[in-house]
Amino acid sequence: RGMTPPTSRPLQPDPHGFKRRGVLFVLSSPSGAGKSTIARKLLAAHPELGVSVSATTRPIRPGEEDGKDYHFVDLEQFRRMTAEGEFLEWAHVFGHRYGTPRAPVEKMLAEGKDVLFDIDWQGAQQLFQIAGGDVVRTFILPPSMEELHQRLLKRATDTIEVIDARMQRAANEVSHWDGYEYVLVNDDVEECFSSVCTILEAERLKRSRQTGLIGFIRKLIK
Ligand code: 5GP
Repeated sequence: RGMTPPTSRPLQPDPHGFKRRGVLFVLSSPSGAGKSTIARKLLAAHPELGVSVSATTRPIRPGEEDGKDYHFVDLEQFRRMTAEGEFLEWAHVFGHRYGTPRAPVEKMLAEGKDVLFDIDWQGAQQLFQIAGGDVVRTFILPPSMEELHQRLLKRATDTIEVIDARMQRAANEVSHWDGYEYVLVNDDVEECFSSVCTILEAERLKRSRQTGLIGFIRKLIK
């Protein structure tokens, strides 16, 4: 759907100087499993990462910033953006709409960046199709449903009804675990974060992404 095919994706130099394709790095989890903490730590540790800021029709929460956490739009705006093909993917989540704006992602890839996506399984699946499978999807599991419930209660940003709905939805989210290349259990946030970094670093080193390697090899064995 309009995005350049993976083989012609923009290249970026890696630390060894080889050109490589940027990684489309998807993090999904039921809300409360610690994904946003991990995403925040990841961006702090890897400031070179681009991040996709989604548009949503859900109301803004205390502490959130428009344009940073999400682009908060109304239903009419969202519908217009959908009709005009402005989304790479979009989905209904908790009775609201969430979508990944296409233009910023294409711009970041053209700049040679890796891009982080905090999207649900529906978005991960759509992105996989759009990018011809060249996506790295990681799912973060809570250590238990009780722990997840506690975390949601502690967060105290949602009503009991919303928390109950999120618990129900969490079970549904988890049932899509097999649509991910990597699945982690977040019982220790530092350990989980460290695994996420390992995944990103290993994916960057994959031979298939190191498109500049071929020139180096040719010189080596000349
Ligand atoms: P929250 O309302 O807690 O910020 O997010 C609810 C869910 O929507 C999360 O699982 C999050 O990953 C997902 N989500 C956020 N943005 C997008 C998006 O652009 N597309 C899709 N498919 N899901 C999204």
